[in-house]
Amino acid sequence: MSSRFQAPRGTFDILPAGWEQRARVYAAAAQIFERAGYGRIETPAFEDRELFARGVGQSTDIVQKEMFSFTDQGGRGLTLRPEGTAPIVRAYVEHGMHRLAQPVKLWHWGPYFRHERPQSGRFREFNQIGAEAIGSDSPLVDAELIILLDELFRELGIAGIRLRLGSLGSPATRAAYRDELQAYLRQREAELAPTVRERIDLNPMRAFDSDDPGTRAVMEEAPTMLERLDDADAEHFAAVRAMVDRAGISYQLDPTLVRGLDYYTRTVFEFESDRLGAQAALGGGGRYDGLVEQLGGPSTPACGWAAGIERILLALDEEADEPGVDVFVAASEDQRERAFALVRELRRAGLRAELDLAERSLKGQMKQADRLGARAAIVLDEQQPAQLRDMTSGEQRELDLARAVEELGP
Ligand code: AMP
Repeated sequence: MSSRFQAPRGTFDILPAGWEQRARVYAAAAQIFERAGYGRIETPAFEDRELFARGVGQSTDIVQKEMFSFTDQGGRGLTLRPEGTAPIVRAYVEHGMHRLAQPVKLWHWGPYFRHERPQSGRFREFNQIGAEAIGSDSPLVDAELIILLDELFRELGIAGIRLRLGSLGSPATRAAYRDELQAYLRQREAELAPTVRERIDLNPMRAFDSDDPGTRAVMEEAPTMLERLDDADAEHFAAVRAMVDRAGISYQLDPTLVRGLDYYTRTVFEFESDRLGAQAALGGGGRYDGLVEQLGGPSTPACGWAAGIERILLALDEEADEPGVDVFVAASEDQRERAFALVRELRRAGLRAELDLAERSLKGQMKQADRLGARAAIVLDEQQPAQLRDMTSGEQRELDLARAVEELGP
């Protein structure tokens, strides 16, 4: 027997029933974004490797070990995009969007790639929905973005949502805090887990994420970023919190919230669901006031988030509705062409219409109509005038084909 192929490890196929659910998430998001004036943007699935090295940060797990990178036939170093913000900022700079009215508000939906250990809710190719508002440092922007993501979760009816909110300050205060934290960690180095010790220089903030008991005890007494915010950053954070409060969204202040990407400044946030188990993060984001400049654009403040579509679907965990069929057109052999034309006419009129594509007998076709859950069937048989059958009650009567659309209307 020849060996069969399977989708690569950590990837999956989206079958029609699965797409139905995704389409519902997409439609809810599209409506929320449209009302709030966000335009849809789409960037390529791969970019220059350097964009992520510079944009996401050399010290991050993503850049250090999770990128699918390759060299193309022209010798260029490319990477399948692991995240959406750096590419969108690249597009903002490339298309001179700083000349438009600011902030430029964009949303996106598409596949992302990270070489992570596959498990429930964690894949190597996954899909994200995201929003970015580039060109304003107003706390209104941070609040609006948090509220939009909350609204999407509410609209979809996702239960058990928690929001964690923090601030990382501006680069200068963050750098000073980082020095202070590094000094503190060195002082208590003997109590830390080896992996945390190794990262003191590269990424000391990650020590807050550790599950190791010794490290946790040290981190409980560690100075936090929130205590070190300067006046302007503290004021910005207070304004964001006040607006999120007023929107009736509850949250937990988290002075240790560090997200796995280097570009964040000031506000950071993360939504979790208690329906998700170990991979609890539904989505999150924050402000990235330095990124546009870092990627070659003018100094431009910005804020955004991304949420995982597969995690949203896991949290929804509902049965997918099979799309219904309005009418099945069954035909005896010599009536097939008529049936084919009639189905086209019915579809043009907006009905979900199907016909036999497997040369079944008339009886077999009625069985197929039943299997598809068709509401009605039209029977074209040379022996008798066209019939309309109500598939639920089984009632059948003569049908004037010229009036078929009218008769079948909603
Ligand atoms: P991040 O860009 O890491 O902040 O991720 C944003 C969201 O994308 C997370 O909260 C998850 O919902 C989702 N996500 C990230 N990585 C994966 C993955 N490997 N598989 C599935 N979803 C993911």
